[in-house]
Amino acid sequence: MGDRSLIRPIGVVLEGRLELGVELLLEGRTIAELRPHTGVPEPFVVSPAFVNAHSHLEYRTLLGRVEGGDFWEWIQRLLPQKRRLTEEESLQGAALAARENRASGVAWLVEHSDLPVSVRAMRAAGLSGIVFQETITLREWESPEPLRDRVAGIARSHAAAAEGIPVFPSPHSPYTVDPSTLQWFGESGRPVSIHVAESVHERRWLAEGVGPMAELHQGLGHARPEAQSATQYLARLGLCRPGAQWVHCCDLDDEDVATIARGGAAVAHCPRSNRALGCPAAPIRRLREAGVAVGMGTDSAASAGVPDMFEEMRLALELSRELGEPLTAEDVWTMATTEGARSVGGPDWRIQPGSSVPLIGLNLPDARETEDLVQLGRPEAVFWISGPA
Ligand SMILES: [Zn+2]
Repeated sequence: MGDRSLIRPIGVVLEGRLELGVELLLEGRTIAELRPHTGVPEPFVVSPAFVNAHSHLEYRTLLGRVEGGDFWEWIQRLLPQKRRLTEEESLQGAALAARENRASGVAWLVEHSDLPVSVRAMRAAGLSGIVFQETITLREWESPEPLRDRVAGIARSHAAAAEGIPVFPSPHSPYTVDPSTLQWFGESGRPVSIHVAESVHERRWLAEGVGPMAELHQGLGHARPEAQSATQYLARLGLCRPGAQWVHCCDLDDEDVATIARGGAAVAHCPRSNRALGCPAAPIRRLREAGVAVGMGTDSAASAGVPDMFEEMRLALELSRELGEPLTAEDVWTMATTEGARSVGGPDWRIQPGSSVPLIGLNLPDARETEDLVQLGRPEAVFWISGPA
């Protein structure tokens, strides 16, 4: 039990929908009561804080240094720059990105970490969440076990400083991790997060044996795992299951959508990064209609720019309209909050009595419906009502 406080905004976002005329009674950080206005409201709106379902804090330093365009060319330009970063530069970049996330209303972060700097950056900015320590076995394709042990060691070293942020070793992608390690992660039953079908190149490699990924693996002497698509390949290896988060999922056909829904994997949608790298538009409405939980992520600043969930939501709407499968403002708001948390087994993120979900206020006095919040929202409008514990 803490102090009781009355929050009387013009409205509260419940399950993605802005409901006017509602006020909140808090006891400490816990919502004690949700009720109709009992007096004159103040000119702001209350929402659950954002859940950033996919982030690479450590790439913040590379913002503006890697030109977009095509996914494969981008990653070829990114990697040498990333290798040149010192741990201190990465930590400073990660710390800045973590502060930017927090300042723009994010309380909970699903972070992909390669260098071991993310956990410290998250703690320093007061962010909660989950960290996936990336495993890449491109150079250890035939005998990846020692590399797996090394990644597990890094995850443990993180965990010592994590104070409640779980750290799980996780496979980076179908094209950077060998099949036996993918299967090992599939069978582990533990939470994993993996980039899937971000570009068309995965399908071209697996199904046809052509394109830059095919050339990469031919050059390294790796046999081609044949599959119709990245989705079908990972499903065969046990990675399409509850507890698995699939990031991007741009290049999916209807069979892939049905496979993901049947398997129970969740999806993270990263609109700004996908547009910057020329990726196909992810079929988010079809995935959600099939029952897949979808979160919203900023991905890395190197592709998407400064973390800003409002920009992601606006572009998610735009991309869905371009695809002819429009999402609503309520859809994207819930993906950026409650559904994002649910998609990765996070805490209950609903605003309801008994809940301690972190709350933000939005200085958007003219907002009357969720669409207004999405269109008018910006980090500068955010203030914290109750931050993460
Ligand atoms: Zn990513």
